Amino acid sequence: MLTKLLIGGEWRAGSSAMPVLDPATGETIAEVAAGTPADALEACDAAAEAQKSWAATAPRVRAEVLRACWQNLVDHADELAELITREHGKPLADAKGEVAYAAEFFRWNSEEAVRLHGSISTAPGGANKIIVQHPPVGVVLVVTPWNFPAAMITRKVAPALAAGNAVVIKPAEDTPLTALRVAELLQQAGVPDGVINVVPTADAASWFEAAVDHHAVRMVSFTGSTETGRKLLRRSADRVLKVGMELGGNAPFIVFDDADIDAAVEGAMVAKMRHSAQTCTAANRFFVQARVADEFTTKLSAAMAAIKVGNGFAEGVDCGPMINAAAVSKIDGLVQAATAGGATSALGGSAVDGPGFFYQPTVLADVTAGSAITGTEIFGPVAPVISFTDTDDMIANANDTEMGLAAYVYTSDIGRGLAVSERLESGMVGLNRGAMSDPAAPFGGMKQSGLGREGASEGIYEFCETQYIAADW
Ligand code: ADP
Repeated sequence: MLTKLLIGGEWRAGSSAMPVLDPATGETIAEVAAGTPADALEACDAAAEAQKSWAATAPRVRAEVLRACWQNLVDHADELAELITREHGKPLADAKGEVAYAAEFFRWNSEEAVRLHGSISTAPGGANKIIVQHPPVGVVLVVTPWNFPAAMITRKVAPALAAGNAVVIKPAEDTPLTALRVAELLQQAGVPDGVINVVPTADAASWFEAAVDHHAVRMVSFTGSTETGRKLLRRSADRVLKVGMELGGNAPFIVFDDADIDAAVEGAMVAKMRHSAQTCTAANRFFVQARVADEFTTKLSAAMAAIKVGNGFAEGVDCGPMINAAAVSKIDGLVQAATAGGATSALGGSAVDGPGFFYQPTVLADVTAGSAITGTEIFGPVAPVISFTDTDDMIANANDTEMGLAAYVYTSDIGRGLAVSERLESGMVGLNRGAMSDPAAPFGGMKQSGLGREGASEGIYEFCETQYIAADW
């Protein structure tokens, strides 16, 4: 297992170490070098130096390197998946899905690297031409969460590199092992020294505080909580940095009474439970039309009851551990407050005894819109069901949150589905679908769920400047 810092193409020991735990057992599985603010600054120096020649390579050259990165990640998919399950805990099948998704950002962006189009037009007055092109921003700080140890990195790094940037990555404290191995695989695939640097740390705030002031840093690309995102935004403002922010969610999952209820339950299980229920697009509130609320709740409870909770490596396990003990107590606090406030527990409702950090798949019925559990990102296997009769009221409740990342709508009337989708203040909507993430689609949120989009054709432009040349000849 790689445990050193990657700075300027060299693997370096750190001055101190931090433990990485297996959340399924609570045991320490590795000690990883803990980077200091000085290490972060050295990584920024290395990135600044490497970025110049990387930006000067032909787009086709960068595209070929990115394509080789995709291939190398795919070739090592099983090994990477095991590493993800080891430090994150998600079931191996989910980890394999994550690796395929993570790798795909390199293939997609290898194709985008040669299609970074600008434009040329004649100025309305006719005196000159307006030439617009998109140079890279420069050095990008990449700060990522633990819930997708590989994909949250590649979703940023692939477009950043395609556009000609260099990156300094600070992976989440809980999952640095995957980040280091991914970086090594990218290095082997031909990414030049210094273009990718990885500096894990046990003190994220001091690390960021130092790096954000480095003269060459021009952008902060962050995925994580809205609370931390706000802090990083404030600090980035001091240097007027470009930002990409993928923040929290509070997804409504809406089921109309004309929906195919079995399909809705199947979609609900995907939207709620994949990656051990710890995704920012996870269905957080189920709004179900009154006529089918009992049927949906009963069928959802049956599907949730069939979920096997356990170590992500064990055969047949569908839901692994939560990331740590604090996550379990937060989830339990929300569930206890909801039941104390009148919700009824149709299934589950408590933590599972250790070792490891597990929570029972839980379904809560009779939940009221506007309660703590519907206003908080649960990040755990808990499905609160709210019955509705009036569509306008339901949409008002679904939109009654500062978050706007993902939403789901199930109905057999596609016209109604599209009309309701348009009224949802959400960057992404799954219409009769429980999953929506795709490197070819723009991922991102409205409102306090974020700024900018990752993936699709717009993804690469987030990592670019716009330069306009008024030309006369
Ligand atoms: P989560 O709740 O998903 O752990 P966080 O927003 O706390 O979300 O963490 C996401 C990432 O942000 C992690 O890499 C974490 O280390 C980092 N982070 C947390 N606080 C800060 C901070 N003050 N400055 C920079 N990075 C931070």
